[in-house]
Amino acid sequence: MAKTMRIAVITSPGLTHLVPILEFSKRFLELHPNFHVTCMIPSLGPHPDSTKSYLQTLPSNIHSILLPPINKQDLPQGAYPGVLIQKTVTLSLPSIRDTLKSLTLREPLAALIADAFAFEALSFAKEFNFLSYIYFPSSVMALSLFFGRDLPFPMQNRSSDAYKLYLERSKGFSNVDGFIINSFLELESAAMKALAREKSCFSFYDVGPITQKRSSSNDGDEELECLRWLDKQPHSSVLYVSFGSGGTLSQSAINELALGLELSGQRFLWVLRAPSDSSSAAYLDNQKNEDPLKFLPSGFLERTKEKGLVLPSWAPQVQILSHDSVGGFLSHCGWNSVLESVQVGVPIITWPLFAEQRMNAVLLVDGLKVAVRPNVGEDGVVEKEEVSNVIKCLMEQEEGKAIRKRMEYLKAYAADAVKKDAGSSTRALSQLATKWEKFSGIEDNN
Ligand code: UDP
Repeated sequence: MAKTMRIAVITSPGLTHLVPILEFSKRFLELHPNFHVTCMIPSLGPHPDSTKSYLQTLPSNIHSILLPPINKQDLPQGAYPGVLIQKTVTLSLPSIRDTLKSLTLREPLAALIADAFAFEALSFAKEFNFLSYIYFPSSVMALSLFFGRDLPFPMQNRSSDAYKLYLERSKGFSNVDGFIINSFLELESAAMKALAREKSCFSFYDVGPITQKRSSSNDGDEELECLRWLDKQPHSSVLYVSFGSGGTLSQSAINELALGLELSGQRFLWVLRAPSDSSSAAYLDNQKNEDPLKFLPSGFLERTKEKGLVLPSWAPQVQILSHDSVGGFLSHCGWNSVLESVQVGVPIITWPLFAEQRMNAVLLVDGLKVAVRPNVGEDGVVEKEEVSNVIKCLMEQEEGKAIRKRMEYLKAYAADAVKKDAGSSTRALSQLATKWEKFSGIEDNN
């Protein structure tokens, strides 16, 4: 029986940073049960219920520690989410250090793995002597920019805080022992090759795709309602429309999208949030105060009731995407959504909003050719005719069929990557385990 070893994991605020790194931990522990994980969770306010209910689903060999929330007043007002996320971690560093110190007094740690926005905590790895890794929750292409010349939105404004923090992160990234990336070769072969050329002095572990097996649900009845509704629709006929955990549209974009869906005549399931002029407004502050349905064009629900279902704010995405009736995904292209769609072979209409989502859209449309991208009008809004055209293209035309076929191939590669023993993701996780065992002076007896 191999001795138990512990690794520590640090997330950054936001469910879509917490879930990916813990899903990675779960998969690692399934394959390497001689390890245990302690996860530290910073927060910029009281820890949300969604976090707590997700943590309750974790196996007993993952121990989570909710760090004391930082004082919201210490954060810059109205800042971009990336700034709020990183500053929250900075302000949590003292409690992270205290926690790490008490952990190391009890038993040595093999490695510390931090979410990209929590990179500053990795300085403690040097101090307490364990290996340091970044778990990068997005694409290799987005990671390559930290070592390349082109910068994504919103870092194009070089006087912004977001840009300064981005540069700090780039510097911090050069001191770690390795990067753990939720991707796989066939998804991003060009970016992986480019990054290997650019940086040969540290290790990359492509462990993807790792996604949730089931989505959390805010409301059991709504979850059942939408899955029952899908049960009644024909095979591969429904377009699922969602903008992630916090993406929001402006009122005029909601109008054009609604009228475009109607014009296309296709079936749809739309997760709708109340409008905002800031596309990331709900990302860290996802409160359901207003009924989003009242922002739809007048008569829309009545006119489309045979064809569509609109759900307010949240839906069980993983279950929806894997439903036999779903044939397309109009997505903001958050990396988790991309991976979830790839894993079930559902082709995409790209509708990027913020962060590195435009890069993900380019990868899907131009690189992999598994998605279509609507043209955006001069006022920044996609017009209803264009919405209708791309939907019809994906759901019923020859071009859509070719895109769907390529997505089917990608789905098969995704399944291969996580195969037991021979899969590239499985092998990368074994390499990490071996490295950490050696570091702790323990060889694997399994
Ligand atoms: N999600 C969900 N229901 C929703 C919206 C999102 O279950 O109504 C989940 C989705 O399955 C994914 C995550 O939330 O796992 C969103 O992550 P992504 O990286 O796609 O986007 P972000 O929320 O970070 O913008």
